[in-house]
Amino acid sequence: MTPYVLVINSGSSSLKYRLLDMEARTPVARGSVERIGEREGGHLTHHGPDGTDDRDADVPDHEAGLRAALDAFGTYGPDLNAAGLAAIGHRVVHGGDRFRDPVLLDDEVERVIDELAVLAPLHNPANLEGIRVARRLFPEAPHVAVFDTAFHQTLPEPAYTYAVPERWRTELGVRRYGFHGTSHAYVSRVAAETLRLPLAETDLIVLHLGNGASAAAIHGGRSVDTSMGLTPLEGLVMGTRSGDLDPEVTMYLERVVGMGSAEVDRGLNRESGLLGLCGDNDMREVVRRAERGEESAALALDVYCHRIRKYVGAYLAVLGRLDALIFTAGVGEHSVAVRARALSGLEGLGLRLDEDRNREAVYGDEPRVISPDDAPIAVLVVPTDEELQIADEALGLVG
Ligand code: ADP
Repeated sequence: MTPYVLVINSGSSSLKYRLLDMEARTPVARGSVERIGEREGGHLTHHGPDGTDDRDADVPDHEAGLRAALDAFGTYGPDLNAAGLAAIGHRVVHGGDRFRDPVLLDDEVERVIDELAVLAPLHNPANLEGIRVARRLFPEAPHVAVFDTAFHQTLPEPAYTYAVPERWRTELGVRRYGFHGTSHAYVSRVAAETLRLPLAETDLIVLHLGNGASAAAIHGGRSVDTSMGLTPLEGLVMGTRSGDLDPEVTMYLERVVGMGSAEVDRGLNRESGLLGLCGDNDMREVVRRAERGEESAALALDVYCHRIRKYVGAYLAVLGRLDALIFTAGVGEHSVAVRARALSGLEGLGLRLDEDRNREAVYGDEPRVISPDDAPIAVLVVPTDEELQIADEALGLVG
């Protein structure tokens, strides 16, 4: 029987899902329910083998959301009961230092995910809500939690340790965890396959540049450093997040204008990054405006690319050598301008782009090499597929 895996990504007001045929390794249905729990505007989209359902739906909570999706499966396929689910994979953002691998969900695992919500107050409770509802509606299927942080649990101690007081580190869990782990794991495996190199012997830098953005240094298939930290705020410049900054900035704002922690939190997470620099958080728009000569957009693009370049240099030093650098996620997969600017001036370190290859690598699902054939380090664009990675890990666990 064809093994089907349902992957669920439950957010605070949305639920995205994908059903994958793991023999063909392709999605057979996908959809999302948006604006869950909001007074109006609830919406369901489902693409199945028998058509598309795209309609407003009354979704007061996640259970109503998942039930609406199941109705759509009933009408537009495939029939989940007939298909039989080998596993349901759930994306969970924060696994702390408790989860290095995917884990079969039970009440105890749910309790630990709940406990870890102090580290990811926006994400873990929302992930857990989806898990609880799905376990109720599919009591027979094995449910597997796959954590964004798990891949980075291989970070060596000097890379994950912050130089802060002992109590913070030992009792309060203050350390680097790292995120986007499923994406970093997936693209590094695909990059090694594309280059026909054994993953266990490769040194890679992955730049996951989406709305959130992170860099990772990967040695032999294991993460050895990454730019996000205790939370997904640290590191690269993102759509609306600042990335690195002097932590004293927050105390300064409190001292000077009495800004409270909630306001600082909102400022750094939602009003900073590209948005804070130029008023736009969509990289397409930032590049268009920068190319028209708008100063604030040009600065935003420069700050964004300068930060990437700094991390590339740092991770070259962390790894000591490099086989390939990989761009992935929305900006990494599509932005010719960002790729060119981020690597400009790094030719002396062996990082070169082939202009035509870079320009052509914009659409398509295939990994592509965008460096010249004789470059000492390969540069690749690898479209990420977090759902496939989650499904692989879930199926791997249940056999
Ligand atoms: P998420 O982190 O939410 O999964 P994605 O990986 O889909 O996000 O990336 C979304 C971002 O990708 C958008 O905010 C947009 O700025 C950027 N993006 C998408 N297409 C392009 C493009 N053609 N050129 C530049 N940026 C793009």
